Amino acid sequence: MSKAGGGDALLVKVMDALGLDLDGGQVQQLLSYVRLLQEGLKQQRLVGDESSSALIGKHLYDSLYPLTVWQMPPGRLLDLGTGAGLPGIPLKICLPGQELYLMDASQKKINFLRKVVRELALAKVFFLPGRAEDWGRDPGCREQFHCVVSRAVARAPILVELGLPLVQLGGFLLLYKGSRGPQEMEAAAPALQLCGGRLEKSWRYRLLTGEERTLFLVRKVSPTPEAYPRRAGLPSKRPLVG
Ligand code: SAH
Repeated sequence: MSKAGGGDALLVKVMDALGLDLDGGQVQQLLSYVRLLQEGLKQQRLVGDESSSALIGKHLYDSLYPLTVWQMPPGRLLDLGTGAGLPGIPLKICLPGQELYLMDASQKKINFLRKVVRELALAKVFFLPGRAEDWGRDPGCREQFHCVVSRAVARAPILVELGLPLVQLGGFLLLYKGSRGPQEMEAAAPALQLCGGRLEKSWRYRLLTGEERTLFLVRKVSPTPEAYPRRAGLPSKRPLVG
């Protein structure tokens, strides 16, 4: 019996489907993470699905998909609104050289993530408890990250205002979206223009469960004006419309 409740075979299948070549230690870390997610789920609802097959076939697959189509630049990787650690933790396991920053407004989620990082013995992982609107104005964080990723946090126009101020000039914002991603990105055009981003590439794919997903890669081409991000709450209350 595996620790993840029979997830080993499925995980191997997912890694094959993604074409990712991981060593035994990385596979064990992914399985331990699935187990911690399941335990966390019992105590507090941290992610929507509870079975190890859903966690692996859906959440891990989705989190790791970008590695199959894009080479992430090495350096500081920020997961904005990471929740229970998605996609940041799986990305860090597969790319151990990255410095990972986990940002979330919920202290409960950050506490859970501290436990995950300790138990998986992940090095170079840092915690940013609080809101992206506030971190985006902090000189220690503003325009400091080579890549900012975000999944299931807010609609694209809002994420562009929250995420781009944190990205280094020339760096990337990678947005994980659902089937309505293209419409969201169309609506995000004014926010991209105002915050210094340019849509560089997008992909459409399906999870092993059949669900359709989209992925958008934005490059930061000019500095974000001081005015952004606006104060906490405003980006979602009044998304930028140009
Ligand atoms: N990325 C995870 C979690 C999604 S739930 C996943 O794919 O499963 C959204 C998370 O974003 C929540 O944990 C919430 O606390 C966080 N969040 C929402 N708005 C935020 C903001 N403005 N700043 C920081 N975190 C935020």
